[in-house]
Amino acid sequence: MLELDGLSVTYRLASGDVPAVRGVSLSIAAGEAVGLAGESGSGKSTVALSILRLLPRTARIDGRILLDGEDVVAMNWGRLRAVRWSGASIVFQGAQHGLNPVRRIGDQIAEPLLVHRLASASQAAVRVRELLEQVGLPAWRARSYPHELSGGQRQRVMIAMALACSPQLIIADEPTTALDLMVQAQVLTLIRHLIASEDIALLMISHDLSVLADVCDRLAVMYAGRLVETGPAASGFKHPYSQALSAAFPTVGDPASRLAPRGLAGDPPDPAELPGGCSFHPRCPVALESCATSPVELRPAGDDRLAACVLVEEKC
Ligand code: ADP
Ligand code: MG
Repeated sequence: MLELDGLSVTYRLASGDVPAVRGVSLSIAAGEAVGLAGESGSGKSTVALSILRLLPRTARIDGRILLDGEDVVAMNWGRLRAVRWSGASIVFQGAQHGLNPVRRIGDQIAEPLLVHRLASASQAAVRVRELLEQVGLPAWRARSYPHELSGGQRQRVMIAMALACSPQLIIADEPTTALDLMVQAQVLTLIRHLIASEDIALLMISHDLSVLADVCDRLAVMYAGRLVETGPAASGFKHPYSQALSAAFPTVGDPASRLAPRGLAGDPPDPAELPGGCSFHPRCPVALESCATSPVELRPAGDDRLAACVLVEEKC
């Protein structure tokens, strides 16, 4: 459904180039759910935006992005417009900002259907009711304005919009990060249910690995613009960065982990000033001397897993 092949994105600013994404290769099969994790600034949103070419003009894309076999980078604007919403759609973090405050919810959900001429006005109204019910909102909510809904309900509306044109791929960039924990759990359950029942492929992005492990079949971890690990969600991480990232979140019900979160000291590097060798080496608890000078590529790490760490290879 989606194939990223050596994807690199560089923001070209007056102050210099920012290599935000560096050689990311990742594929998602039809109906598969893949999670993309990493700290803030690791390049996750840049990957998401590049898939539908929503990046600013300052961004240069290298490598290939194939959506259902078709090269997104080579598409003309007409084709790109057709693919947005109906081939693939995006759910962003801040639902509050994605909705127009002065238009009714129903009209906003119907808009992509009407713009893509997939439905007449009366067919769209029927589909809006169906979509609202699918995301757990009563049909009468179509007449509400965004301010009349809670944050979780607005995020459900965003999901309904993303589903409207029956895309084959949904990209969800931190869809639950702005929500409180209870609502987050409800929205995650909804997403899990929808992708299973509608056979939609999902690229779900979060800094929180536990959220991703809940929904996804496979996980990919990014650090400083590169993938450092990919593998099945059900088995444990091998890269020291992924291990530190998963340990950085306290376990609910375990006060010890909340009081003393293990994991990551320090900040991720500025992409404009990356350290040499493995980008993670200055923060890595088990780094060798050679990690400071020799870059490490992804390599097999057992059970369908790839990891970019010299130590991983030794262990397998
Ligand atoms: P994430 O989603 O993982 O937090 P982003 O993709 O938003 O990461 O950002 C990756 C890097 O690219 C960051 O260093 C960020 O500052 C930089 N960046 C993001 N958007 C822009 C932009 N429009 N112009 C310049 N730099 C950007
Ligand atoms: Mg982001």
